[in-house]
Amino acid sequence: MQQDALWQAVLGEIELSVSHGSFITWFKGTSLLKHSEESIVIGVNNIFIKQHLELRYGDIITKTLAKNGLVSNQIEYKIISAHSDKQRSAKSQEMPPEQASTVSAARKPNSNATLGNDLSHSYRQGLNERYTLDDFVVGDGNELAFAACQAVASQPGTKYNPLFLYGGVGIGKTHLIQAVGNILAARDPSAKVLYISTEQFVQEFVDALRMRKTPAFARHYRTADVLIVDDVQFIAGKEKMQEEFFHTFNALHQANKQIILSADKPPKDIPTLEDRLRSRFTGGMSIDMQIPDFETRCAIVQSKAQGHGTELDNEVVQYLATNIQNNIRELEGALNQLLAFCEMRGLEPTLAIATGLLNVNKTRPKHLSAKQIIERTARHFQIPFEDIVGPKRDKDIVVPRQVAMYMLRNELKLSFPKIARELGRKDHTTAIHSVDKIDREARQDASLRMAISEIREHLYA
Ligand code: ADP
Ligand code: MG
Repeated sequence: MQQDALWQAVLGEIELSVSHGSFITWFKGTSLLKHSEESIVIGVNNIFIKQHLELRYGDIITKTLAKNGLVSNQIEYKIISAHSDKQRSAKSQEMPPEQASTVSAARKPNSNATLGNDLSHSYRQGLNERYTLDDFVVGDGNELAFAACQAVASQPGTKYNPLFLYGGVGIGKTHLIQAVGNILAARDPSAKVLYISTEQFVQEFVDALRMRKTPAFARHYRTADVLIVDDVQFIAGKEKMQEEFFHTFNALHQANKQIILSADKPPKDIPTLEDRLRSRFTGGMSIDMQIPDFETRCAIVQSKAQGHGTELDNEVVQYLATNIQNNIRELEGALNQLLAFCEMRGLEPTLAIATGLLNVNKTRPKHLSAKQIIERTARHFQIPFEDIVGPKRDKDIVVPRQVAMYMLRNELKLSFPKIARELGRKDHTTAIHSVDKIDREARQDASLRMAISEIREHLYA
């Protein structure tokens, strides 16, 4: 029998003994690359699948192979990139975000950026296409903000300038302001639409100061067509940055360029914010965002579940929306955890499982250290701790390293420079890029979601 046909036969049998979800997630893209008495080599799409097959399905695979006449001393799993897209993202793995987006966005980078390598930008800096207004569920608590964003998206630089959204953590500020940026960038590809978190903004400014490149930094931001700055509360106490931002703000505002800002509190409550900046921030439209009401939270859960191809029972939806009341990110996190837990075990998400998972979360200890998280991640991927924090750039080290960065950001809320340091990286943009990459890929890749979920389960076990 041919190698292909042989493997199809093996898969056919495995399909009968595992759940449909598991089969799709773990076995679908696999292939038989080589077989001899010494070894059988199975091709898989990524390290998460490799990992999971080794850990969970080793026995089944060995047995089924044997049944089909394939016996050998060892089974190896080899990661093969399925298509060119993957190869491209592999190439960009440890590049700073600007360079990486040049590779993937197929758009010409800003060729006259003179800030030097790690401060050069493409025209749609910082935007993540997954955020759209269409995906945003509108309801009590966010409808005003939504309407203002629609208005700005249709007529930038006119009525609401700046648009200032404020409110608690995880209620959709970043989602909305990113969505506006995406609309404006799509409408006019030559427009310079810049999104930046204040954390990164400050870091770039500090770098520019250090490298004596503040004029280039200023030029870059003062020539934006749309400038979106997220979480401006972090500018508090940074005097030089406030000064710089004040001038940027004025230059853009005078030229009728749209400015969009977000913060966790209104300008009047941001401590040590210079008065002149405070008055600039409030000079347009400020909107207080609230956590959406129960019905809206239910609609969000259902819509996100559908995005994962799952239809949830109402009781499960309502249970989640009742128990997680003040943060949509957490709500989404709980949903993802529930779906990953069920996918992994081939179960339907029921109220009982949801209740069990949420209760476990409530009793989680909060004393994890960065080192524990990195160690756990390294162990999960069966690589030495020295490698994950070391200089190696092989793919099976780089990806776990990116996952570790993602975990540090999500579990400990560490800053990007700190995350970079914990993993032995000098450049914080690597951390930003890695966290974003894993965040993005986890939405599409069930195997990655499960790897994350398993690491987390062990951390809190
Ligand atoms: P914030 O910036 O306010 O802290 P985010 O914009 O990052 O919050 O939102 C957290 C998560 O919740 C994101 O994944 C976002 O897509 C999601 N989210 C928040 N509000 C909504 C909504 N109304 N509809 C759909 N998704 C939402
Ligand atoms: Mg945000």
